[in-house]
Amino acid sequence: MSRIITIANQKGGVGKTTTAVNLAASLAAAERSTLLIDVDPQGNAGSAVGVGRDDVESSVYDVLLDARPIDEVVQKTELKFLGLVPSSRHLVGAELELAGAERREYRLREALSDVAGKYEYVIIDCPPSLGLLTLNALVASQGVIVPLQCEYYALEGLADILRTIDLVRDGSNAELALDGILLTMYAANNLAAQVEKEIRTHFPDRVYKTVIPRNVRLSESPSHGKPILLYDVASKGCQSYLEFAREVEKRQRRVA
Ligand code: ADP
Ligand code: MG
Repeated sequence: MSRIITIANQKGGVGKTTTAVNLAASLAAAERSTLLIDVDPQGNAGSAVGVGRDDVESSVYDVLLDARPIDEVVQKTELKFLGLVPSSRHLVGAELELAGAERREYRLREALSDVAGKYEYVIIDCPPSLGLLTLNALVASQGVIVPLQCEYYALEGLADILRTIDLVRDGSNAELALDGILLTMYAANNLAAQVEKEIRTHFPDRVYKTVIPRNVRLSESPSHGKPILLYDVASKGCQSYLEFAREVEKRQRRVA
């Protein structure tokens, strides 16, 4: 059985894509067979592993709208154990196209049931909204990881995604769990330390021990089409995502 994890937060620029890409790559580097699914029309996750939105003929759009089997759209990446289901610019209209469709929020879940045994981890990168694309990801998943920047109002933004997770759990997917909150782009200053303390107090046991520091190598690697571990393995950013992947695996073993 795969562990299917969505990386979600309705805010943009909080480190969703960076986390999805580098968690998936770190798991794959540990020889866990991993599938990264990009449901953001912007296609940043795909390009960060070297597959541009325009390089592919079929995408997650075909899976969601035309019932194309996932196997037929998986692209290889530079990492042997990492496959990618790419995004497409057609996804921009998918929210509207899906709106009137039957079983509109179950499309991804149903497609993934065909490949359930094939991957140890499926990691889904979401757009910065809580629309039908994110909903499809949440309904298909067992766990959600919420990346969060330690800034003012961080807790307020968190409330929206937590409410959405509760709604999905009460409606379409009873097994959905908040796997954890990941502090990203951490800058060592007083404000960050204060917000971190507040979040850890509010959500004891739900905030990962690993904190991702602000690290320029992490922001450079996507423009080279590489996850950080193929770009600068010695960097703090890379080491922190490798550590994070170990923490995810450890928690996974505890619940399994
Ligand atoms: P989201 O997917 O939530 O919109 P991204 O992962 O794309 O967020 O991150 C937003 C921007 O910040 C990107 O340019 C990314 O390269 C950069 N970034 C993400 N995490 C870090 C980090 N830990 N240190 C420095 N830059 C980062
Ligand atoms: Mg993104």
